[in-house]
Amino acid sequence: MAEQRGTQAARSLCDQLQITAEELQTRLAFLSFGEQDERNLVEIREVISSGVEELIGRVYDHLLQFEELRGILSDPMLVERLKGSQRQYLLSLGQLGDDVEYAEARLRIGLTHERVGLEQKWYLSAYHKLFELILQRLAVRYSGDACRLSSLVLTLNKVLRLDEIFVVEMYYHATTQRQEDSFCQLKDAHRQLEGLSRQDSLTLVNNRRALMEELALEFQRSRRYQHPFALLFLDIDHFKEINDRHGHAFGDQVLLHVVQLARGMIRPADIIGRYGGEEFVIGLVECEQAGALQIAERIRLKISQDQFAWEHHVTSVTVSIGVVMLSPEIDQVETFVTRADQAMYHAKRRGRNRVELYNEECASMNQPE
Ligand code: GH3
Ligand code: MG
Ligand code: MG
Repeated sequence: MAEQRGTQAARSLCDQLQITAEELQTRLAFLSFGEQDERNLVEIREVISSGVEELIGRVYDHLLQFEELRGILSDPMLVERLKGSQRQYLLSLGQLGDDVEYAEARLRIGLTHERVGLEQKWYLSAYHKLFELILQRLAVRYSGDACRLSSLVLTLNKVLRLDEIFVVEMYYHATTQRQEDSFCQLKDAHRQLEGLSRQDSLTLVNNRRALMEELALEFQRSRRYQHPFALLFLDIDHFKEINDRHGHAFGDQVLLHVVQLARGMIRPADIIGRYGGEEFVIGLVECEQAGALQIAERIRLKISQDQFAWEHHVTSVTVSIGVVMLSPEIDQVETFVTRADQAMYHAKRRGRNRVELYNEECASMNQPE
């Protein structure tokens, strides 16, 4: 996004609005702009340049009669800058040349005004004021030659119209650009929120909803293609005692520690999530039984060998892990998880701090005390 904006900034306004030299010629042809107009413009510019400061002063006097505009134009430095670009604009009125530089300069002026918050309605009305003021001057100079005057007025009208169209396009482009930016920001925020709504806030792994969704996807895929898929159900042993002895905040750190250790021992494609309080489920993708048991045992051993210390408290932690392999008769992801849970309870019954593979026996057992 930032890169895209950077590229936009580097591109000329004509490029962004796809205004080419050829396009400019077509626009002029559409306005029936001809050689007579070019000759007329030399005279118009002469009339303008002979009293440009007064002309600009009159435009600003007019604008400042309106409260809304007084608000925008309250900074004298800004007004000086805007007057400067208006001076440049007036002195080069209709100096078209062969390339798009003329259009680029007009678009740039439009953009400056858009950025200072001058609404399009005011900008376009100011064009009318400008037209009126230049017209008055032309009328004084050519008062005895109605034919010449009408030709000059026609040219003036064409060139101001041409410039007005650039301004309208520039304003529209700036608005669209801003809307696109807001849309991208909104999309980013939405993505972030969605990430948060799927994440367990303490351990930063999947929460239960996201875990079940990810498991369901992998479950379907593994079943369809008959690929091995193993599930580990991990429960911290006597966690209540850890909380009771060291406090809940310490317990939280233990949870985080256990997750970090387990996470470091599985592959990025594997799935891990918090199923409940001190219970975590790990889905080992494309993993055969021997491998799954080995990983479960490694996780168990690593956790049990580690002394966990935090803020003057130290404890050792052990976990019980149930392991189950996907098999054809398991037709629901929930059944898959239940079997892993039953295997974990089997491990609890058999003394905790151990790994048990699911078997028929596990299903018929009562939960431990
Ligand atoms: P077992 O070996 O049979 O699993 O015993 P246990 O004490 O681990 O199991 P039990 O279900 O009796 O207790 C689980 C405890 O986990 C109780 C609950 O307060 C604690 N717990 C659940 N969620 C959190 C948490 O987010 N932070 C902390 N600190 N404790 C939690
Ligand atoms: Mg538990
Ligand atoms: Mg427990």
